Amino acid sequence: MEDFDLIVVGGGAAGFFGAIACAEARPGSRVIILEATPRVLTKVKISGGGRCNVTHHQFDTKRLVMSYPRGNKELIGAFHRFQPRDTVAWFAAHGVELKVEEDGRMFPVTNSSQTIIDCLEQTARQHGVGLRLKTLVQRVEKVDDHFLVHTKDGAVLRSRFVLLATGSMPFGQTLARDLGHRLVDPVPSLFTFEIKDPLLEGLSGTSFPRVHIQLKIPGAAQDFQQEGPCLITHWGLSGPAVLKLSAFAARELFASGYKAQALINWEYPLKYEAALERLDALRREHPKKKVSNENPFGCTRRFWEALLRESGLSAAQLYAETGRKQLQEIARRLTATPLNVEGKGVFKEEFVTAGGVAREEIDFRRMESKVCPGLFMAGEVIDVDGITGGFNFQNAWTGSWLAAQAMAYSLGDSPKA
Ligand SMILES: Cc1cc2nc3c(=O)[nH]c(=O)nc-3n(C[C@H](O)[C@H](O)[C@H](O)COP(=O)(O)OP(=O)(O)OC[C@H]3O[C@@H](n4cnc5c(N)ncnc54)[C@H](O)[C@@H]3O)c2cc1C
Repeated sequence: MEDFDLIVVGGGAAGFFGAIACAEARPGSRVIILEATPRVLTKVKISGGGRCNVTHHQFDTKRLVMSYPRGNKELIGAFHRFQPRDTVAWFAAHGVELKVEEDGRMFPVTNSSQTIIDCLEQTARQHGVGLRLKTLVQRVEKVDDHFLVHTKDGAVLRSRFVLLATGSMPFGQTLARDLGHRLVDPVPSLFTFEIKDPLLEGLSGTSFPRVHIQLKIPGAAQDFQQEGPCLITHWGLSGPAVLKLSAFAARELFASGYKAQALINWEYPLKYEAALERLDALRREHPKKKVSNENPFGCTRRFWEALLRESGLSAAQLYAETGRKQLQEIARRLTATPLNVEGKGVFKEEFVTAGGVAREEIDFRRMESKVCPGLFMAGEVIDVDGITGGFNFQNAWTGSWLAAQAMAYSLGDSPKA
């Protein structure tokens, strides 16, 4: 029977990073990655629209954890030991420079996810990390102080430690369940909202720098709210504010069948009273001007015209011909448009699953199972997920690095542990 120090199940971001970090911290250790499919790092390849949003330029760990709807408490300690600054330094030390974009997302300067794949594959090879493709792990068995890993093709490999890095694949998670772990049901996170409303018709592509969205979900104990940029799409709404809401309300939206009522302030933080004041002033000072030509707000002309249309104004209407009720209606729609969310749309740049191995069963200082010592977990297999922006990869890098340090330390003296 083949013997290893560490068997990594899953050749994704967490699996590769963990395998490399262990081999680096404990040179000479026998580490192998078992990957079910014919290719490794497939999600890295397609991530960030093919550019791989590796991490986020948020080095304040208290703020960083606020981007994790599930796992924010548990990750505080973990990020103290390995956070985005460490990710940037790690990749720089391995020949990959990252750059930061205006919104804080960090990508390789090459703008290609292949750079990250090449880096991880080359580094793994340099450190003698083994790799077996088309090797589905069917069962992991704990026997005394070691593990027997059974693959679909009938092989049995023995190892002191196992790192479960199977991502959100249900089959991978059953490996954890069979070892006695509780699984939290998977539900999608990071999606857009399907909304059909006359206000949005013909406005696809219109963006807003800062909206506020309040979401009422039938059956939910609380309302959800977020602010940030927003984009009108062919099928409804997208953009950071919507994606954040989809993540923080992932479970409640799933339970409601993706039905909810959104109340949107398109000009946040402008208040209704202030909006009405500006309109009143225009009516006083420019009564002969067309309302459609005098937009006192930051929104685009196309949106302004749609807002006037839905508020009952005609295209050529002058301010002088506009009653107070109509101005009130414009101000109300601008600062609190009610829209019905009718379903879940796709967000092609990134998607993750909420759910996985229950967090309370993992010691986040070591990423080791409390139920099955010697078994480590990292990445999306655990019930941890972040909003869009590089936070999900950061969770994979941090978790697998911590697991690797703990395993390397146990394998012998390690300077980093
Ligand atoms: C389209 C898309 C774009 C994304 N873009 C970004 C982004 O830009 N930034 C960001 O932070 N996040 C992004 N994400 C999320 C990010 O990709 C994941 O959070 C991350 O890949 C999780 O890494 P992981 O190693 O835990 O799981 P995965 O990357 O899913 O890897 C798990 C691996 O385990 C293998 N496996 C599963 N079960 C078994 C088994 N039984 N035996 C052997 N092998 C097994 C799988 O085949 C897979 O290769 C994106 C996701 C998607 C889908």
